[in-house]
Amino acid sequence: MRQMIAGNWKMNGTLAGLAGFAAPLAAGVDGVDLLICPPFPLIGPMIAAFAGAPVAVGAQDCAVEVAGAHTGDVSAPLLAEIGASHVILGHSERRADHGERSALVRDKARTATAAGLIPIICVGETLAERESGEAETVVRAQLAGSVPDGFAGLIAYEPVWAIGTGKTPTVADVAAMHASIRASLKKQLGDAGTAMLILYGGSVKPANAAELLAIPEVGGALIGGASLEADDFLAIAQAA
Ligand code: 13P
Repeated sequence: MRQMIAGNWKMNGTLAGLAGFAAPLAAGVDGVDLLICPPFPLIGPMIAAFAGAPVAVGAQDCAVEVAGAHTGDVSAPLLAEIGASHVILGHSERRADHGERSALVRDKARTATAAGLIPIICVGETLAERESGEAETVVRAQLAGSVPDGFAGLIAYEPVWAIGTGKTPTVADVAAMHASIRASLKKQLGDAGTAMLILYGGSVKPANAAELLAIPEVGGALIGGASLEADDFLAIAQAA
């Protein structure tokens, strides 16, 4: 199964920096799918910057409604129309900063799928939840609430305490969590849950990428800070 190396630029990046970012990635990386999710205004220009290159461009969120009086929101059909392929949904920063609950994430996943986007649903526990031994229970509940019936997208396991901190779980903890997520997906989705990619995210860097990407059931990575520099992103993809 091909791994997916995805970048989440969060609220970073500039129009002026796009050409310099795209050039080193234009040839792609053999055997690996590449995706970058920049802020909304950069999606169109980034698609143009990667024209002809094997690099997909996605969004970091979409509205649950398809159109109408929703000031400041961006619809999934519009994202699909301009050429976005994927959309990250339920990132812990959306859950924390915007109060997004699993039921909303599930409904957004339905809207995105209907528009032709491939959702990447994020789940992950806080440090307190990990320290109290509840990490797998919390993530299982997030999956049950966030993943709609018939879901055909990707999952990203991102422990909240590993995001932007330079800390990562142990190999054994990542392996255990991804196995638990796989079991939940099979239970919820049947055969479709067997092959679904489960990305790991949280402080993935060139230095730890090979170790993390070799863990069973890790289907790729969702990368924040290290996706902002083409060289780092490329080095991570080459480790896959
Ligand atoms: P960092 O790679 O900066 O830890 O961010 C991970 C993340 O949140 C990707 O969605």
